[in-house]
Amino acid sequence: DQETAADDCLFCRIIRREIPADVVLEDEHTLAFRDISPQAPVHVLVIPKVHHPDAAALAAAAPEALVALVEAVGAVADQEGLWEGYRTVFNTGARAHQTVFHAHAHVLGGRDMAWPPG
Ligand code: 5GP
Ligand code: ZN
Repeated sequence: DQETAADDCLFCRIIRREIPADVVLEDEHTLAFRDISPQAPVHVLVIPKVHHPDAAALAAAAPEALVALVEAVGAVADQEGLWEGYRTVFNTGARAHQTVFHAHAHVLGGRDMAWPPG
């Protein structure tokens, strides 16, 4: 169930401050922190404080938390000075290289973002 999943979930442990993270923004619903392996000059992960395995599951179970997450993406972009644009990514499933099964948005910016993404 959700509690068992959350017990040994990496991002739930970051929310509980059991693992350190470089936090850039926090509110009631959301935590944002720098990716440990940045793929752009700015690479921030924005996560809901509730545990769901991916963005679609989050949308189904807690739509208000998904809205708060997208609002936090905008706040992170403002705070990081990404006024020229940025990319928001939800990797879902093995083929998209999702490795942490707690919903998260990647916010990538500070360089030109290629399209199509490859
Ligand atoms: P995914 O591949 O699941 O979409 O993204 C997971 C992201 O979490 C990866 O970009 C990876 O670098 C990042 N990550 C993995 N472990 C940690 C960690 O302990 N701390 C931080 N800040 N990021 C992590
Ligand atoms: Zn979790």
